[in-house]
Amino acid sequence: MVDKLHTKYVLDESQMPRAWYNIVPDLPRPLAPVLHPATHKPVGPDDLAPLFPMALILQEVSTERYIEIPEPVRRVYAQWRPSPLFRARRLEQALDTPARIYYKYEGVSPVGSHKPNTAVAQVFYNREEGVRKIATETGAGQWGSSLAMAGAFFGVEVEVFMVKVSYHQKPFRRSMMQAYGATVHASPTDLTQAGRSILARDPDNMGSLGIAISEAVERAATSGGTIKYSLGSVLNHVLLHQTVVGEEALLQMALADDYPDVVIGCAGGGSNMAGLIIPFVRERLARGLNTRFLAAEPTACPSMTKGVYTYDFGDTVGMTPLVKMHTLGHDFMPPGIHAGGLRYHGMAPIMSLLHEEGIVEAQAYHQNAIFEAAVEFARSEGIIPAPESAHAIRAAFDEALQAKEAGQERVILFNLSGHGHFDMASYDAYFEGKLEDYEYPVEEVRAAQERMPKIDEAALAGGD
Ligand SMILES: *Cc1c(COP(=O)(O)O)cnc(C)c1O
Repeated sequence: MVDKLHTKYVLDESQMPRAWYNIVPDLPRPLAPVLHPATHKPVGPDDLAPLFPMALILQEVSTERYIEIPEPVRRVYAQWRPSPLFRARRLEQALDTPARIYYKYEGVSPVGSHKPNTAVAQVFYNREEGVRKIATETGAGQWGSSLAMAGAFFGVEVEVFMVKVSYHQKPFRRSMMQAYGATVHASPTDLTQAGRSILARDPDNMGSLGIAISEAVERAATSGGTIKYSLGSVLNHVLLHQTVVGEEALLQMALADDYPDVVIGCAGGGSNMAGLIIPFVRERLARGLNTRFLAAEPTACPSMTKGVYTYDFGDTVGMTPLVKMHTLGHDFMPPGIHAGGLRYHGMAPIMSLLHEEGIVEAQAYHQNAIFEAAVEFARSEGIIPAPESAHAIRAAFDEALQAKEAGQERVILFNLSGHGHFDMASYDAYFEGKLEDYEYPVEEVRAAQERMPKIDEAALAGGD
């Protein structure tokens, strides 16, 4: 019997997950190996050691199903976890839909998004191995502020390369990072070879996530071991840490005596969506369910819907290892859309594989439709969503409206990955009618594909 009364489902601190779930051993086929950027041979743990602490490298390649969450990490999580799961009753009424809509709210973390779930774990493992300083990149500042906060908790210095256009247009997340004690640079900078080479060609370059990654990676790689690097999405260990979201949501759906037909997330690098869906994917595979999974992305940066599934660099300059993923090309220069966290050229290899296997569907949305849904959501649920999260809301709306048309009781669950309190300038632009809908041309992807590294995958598979 579906619960007719509750608005939110809360778990006790003691019900917080004790382990992260690693989907790698349960994937329908193995992940493609990660390759060295120069030799194109599979990388081993030693190749990654200049960038990451060994504990995270081992998690990156782990085939253990469950990895225990260290007690100090759980103690920090307990500050805001378990996060609430809401039934969007007023929204259901507003949409006049027979669908039941639930959302998991990650905006309750101190920085207002899901990102601290991995930032705290990453800084903890670095600190355990004696690391005193971490370099990273950030787009609109969500990731930088999460890592800065975690750095403050564990006494690790944090240096952030922030995409220049956001550094100037979104100054408050920069102040936030500084409040937590981090150092913030507007990228491209003249502090790295990568930054200098881009500025030499294009002095007015306003930066991109790919360029900022190149700078942060170079910082760590050339530090003689004193600085490590940290990434807030895409990698297996990041998705692993985010699975606390879905494990809690499974328990909360049980409290509601309900189960989702479709689980939705917005997808930039894929981490918040993966965090919510991966435990539900495990249930689908183990129990033969037919739960659907839907990734919502911007039409301006359509990695899954228009990108190619192939080997590419994670950064612009070509310093990171090569990973097989959906990509728009490592030299993708994002159009200036207002969902900063969704402007990355690639997609997590695990999410890419799930999409390729037909387990995860993807749909792209225009930004005016996104903000229309965001505003309607705010007016019925009260929470002002991050523009990134609003992509998931738009997808949930469309599912609810389709259910209405079909006269179906559909159960919809989405991840509300963060609040939009630092994004009100984007809302202003929407209210003033200044947002342009932009469809990234498929020809650009084809042209970018020419510039991607050529890997002989058949030879790799049969290789030594
Ligand atoms: C960074 C961010 C995203 C996008 O990153 P994913 O790795 O795809 O989750 C989505 N929502 C919010 C609120 C973010 O800060």
